[in-house]
Amino acid sequence: MKKFDVTIIGSGLSGLVCGNILSKEGFNVCVIEKHHTPGGNLQSFIRHGHSFDTGVHYIGSMGEGQTLNRYWKYLGITGNLSLQPLDADGFDHIRFGDDEFPIAQHPYGFIDRLSPLFPGSRSVLEAYIKDLQIITEASPLYHLQVPEDNHEQRYRTAGAMDWYRTLGGNVFSRNGRIPLSAVLAGNNYLYAGSEATPQHTAAIINHSFLSGAYRIVGGSSGIAQLLTNNIRTSGGMVLTHKEIVSIRDMNQKFLVESHDGELFLSNLLISSIHPQKTLQMMPENMVRSSFRKRINSLVNTSASFILHLGLKPEKFPYLNRNYYMHNSTDVWRNPPARDTDWPEMALLSTPCQRAGQIFAETATVLTYSNYNDYLPWERTSVGKRGGEYLEMKQSGAGKLLAFVARYFPDLPGAISHMEISTPLTYRDYTGIPEGSLYGIRKDYRDPLMTTLLPKTKIPNFYFTGQNTNIHGVLGVTIAAVMTCGEILGIESLLKKIRNG
Ligand SMILES: Cc1cc2nc3c(=O)[nH]c(=O)nc-3n(C[C@H](O)[C@H](O)[C@H](O)COP(=O)(O)OP(=O)(O)OC[C@H]3O[C@@H](n4cnc5c(N)ncnc54)[C@H](O)[C@@H]3O)c2cc1C
Repeated sequence: MKKFDVTIIGSGLSGLVCGNILSKEGFNVCVIEKHHTPGGNLQSFIRHGHSFDTGVHYIGSMGEGQTLNRYWKYLGITGNLSLQPLDADGFDHIRFGDDEFPIAQHPYGFIDRLSPLFPGSRSVLEAYIKDLQIITEASPLYHLQVPEDNHEQRYRTAGAMDWYRTLGGNVFSRNGRIPLSAVLAGNNYLYAGSEATPQHTAAIINHSFLSGAYRIVGGSSGIAQLLTNNIRTSGGMVLTHKEIVSIRDMNQKFLVESHDGELFLSNLLISSIHPQKTLQMMPENMVRSSFRKRINSLVNTSASFILHLGLKPEKFPYLNRNYYMHNSTDVWRNPPARDTDWPEMALLSTPCQRAGQIFAETATVLTYSNYNDYLPWERTSVGKRGGEYLEMKQSGAGKLLAFVARYFPDLPGAISHMEISTPLTYRDYTGIPEGSLYGIRKDYRDPLMTTLLPKTKIPNFYFTGQNTNIHGVLGVTIAAVMTCGEILGIESLLKKIRNG
């Protein structure tokens, strides 16, 4: 049996950040990962010589002095990653057929680029930027400050959809076809926008990208490598190929067991994986039945269907921006089943392999997917799902490519090979129920029920990761700081982070 001060289940960004902070603070840490490489959604995979990122395409607030940059400076990542700033005059482009709208960075750029396209919109855009500022200012951890009051709660109990519709629902593009509200929420795939999305989630995410949007040159797995190296350098362990299958409480210590029968004993336990999965591993008497019931009743964010495209040399340009394409201005609709008018939207992103790149080597196309479409294969595993599943994947890929080709007719001819990922792919690689994009769906109509706190009623057992805070690279970094703050004291931890 191996003994540690802290065992961390899962080596996604949150598990690795917790491992970094705690090992830096002198704890004997062990991070345990089921997959063969650390990183969770930060992982990249290689096919036919092309490297593909799985779950991070761009990051926000990474400019000098901005939120993520400062958190990562403390972790030793900032400065060791090569970053590509996305186009300042339109890091995201929102498209509805022939109508195209740039989302520019920095408040003035954002207003100056959009206002000429929407007559009479300047004051609305100014009000939107003001709202973003008010909400982020009310969110202490966004400014590396101790959360002493509960000002931000009011934005967790307001809905993003209503906010956007009230702000820009009556302002239309020059041709009268596109409401400003649909453009402001046109990249809401970033937060799996639904009728439940809290205003707080949309505001923090949008503010962070408007402040400074970047791609990671060479891919997101570089973050996982840096964090893993740091943990090992501080004397901690990151173990892979070890799926945790049981958690037991042993006289105020935790005993976790991996699928191959290895046992790990620790004083503190942090789970970075989905809470429903975590509770399934705990015996009945370890968790109060009301808590188990609450966790099992939570709804997850929608799943996704993704094309990882390897491209022929010099056939398709590198696009230093992302394209969100919609076939309707109702950008808040739930993903339809595949046999109806799916897909209704797509995101196209071309990863950056090196600075100054002219042609894209790979491209990723993402859209929502309805998990129910995959129920017939729910009990199957990767590579063993059968011919019908493969046919369904291929036909889905054909539909999605045809959708994107309406906007980028040269893309299909530039493809040398294609990897297709369904909700089941995500479920099986990251362990996330239903292949959900971002874990638990936070709901402004019931924030207390749908927000998971890092500290639990089980002494010395903590949650972390996208299910405890806002998802995404920034939200998950903050989630890990919140969890470690429960152990180390948030005030002193934030002081150290602020001091770099
Ligand atoms: C398609 C997609 C695109 C995205 N794009 C972006 C983006 O562009 N920008 C952005 O900021 N965010 C993006 N995100 C969100 C972001 O990637 C996630 O919110 C974040 O990485 C989640 O980190 P985490 O540590 O909470 O969880 P995860 O990354 O899910 O990590 C959990 C880890 O636990 C492991 N695990 C699960 N069960 C077990 C077990 N029983 N035993 C041991 N290990 C286990 C998993 O294998 C995984 O490594 C995207 C997500 C997806 C799915």
